[in-house]
Amino acid sequence: MDFLKDLQIRLAKLPAAGRSALEAGDRQTLQQLANNLDAELARLRDERRHVMAENLELAARVKVLEQEVARMKAAGMAIPEAPAEFVEHQGALFKREASGRFHDRPHCRNCRRPMRMIAADLPFTCGTCRVSSFFKASELNDILVFLRRS
Ligand SMILES: [Zn+2]
Repeated sequence: MDFLKDLQIRLAKLPAAGRSALEAGDRQTLQQLANNLDAELARLRDERRHVMAENLELAARVKVLEQEVARMKAAGMAIPEAPAEFVEHQGALFKREASGRFHDRPHCRNCRRPMRMIAADLPFTCGTCRVSSFFKASELNDILVFLRRS
C-alpha cells in the first residue's frame, strides 16, 4: 500500500528534523512539525472511520451473500462460478491470477483441470476427458505473451 510506505518515509524523517530543530532551538520548525503531525493524525482518523464504515458494509454484504449461497445449496441449486477466472484461448482455458498474470499451465475447456503436455509438437491434452488444445505445447510461450498483452 503506497499510503503506508509514504507514512513510513515521513515518520522516519520526523525524528531527524525534530532533533535538529530542537538542537537549534528552532521553535518555528518544531511548531510546524507538530502541526504536520496533528494534520496527519486527523487525516488518519478520518481514513480509519471511512475504512471501518466500509468494512462494516462489506461484512454485511458478505453475510447476505453467504446466506444466499446457503439457501441455494439447500434448494439444490448450482452455485454460479466466479466470473472471468479463466480466459479461453485456442481451445484451452488460462487461469488469471489475482495479480492479473496468467498461470502458465493450460486448463481443460471441459472440466477445468490442468492439461498435460505429451510432447512439444503435440497439443496439450486433458487426462480426464481427453480434450486437446488447438495449439502445440511448443506454442505455449507465444500464447502466454499474447494473453499478457490482451
Ligand atoms: Zn478435461
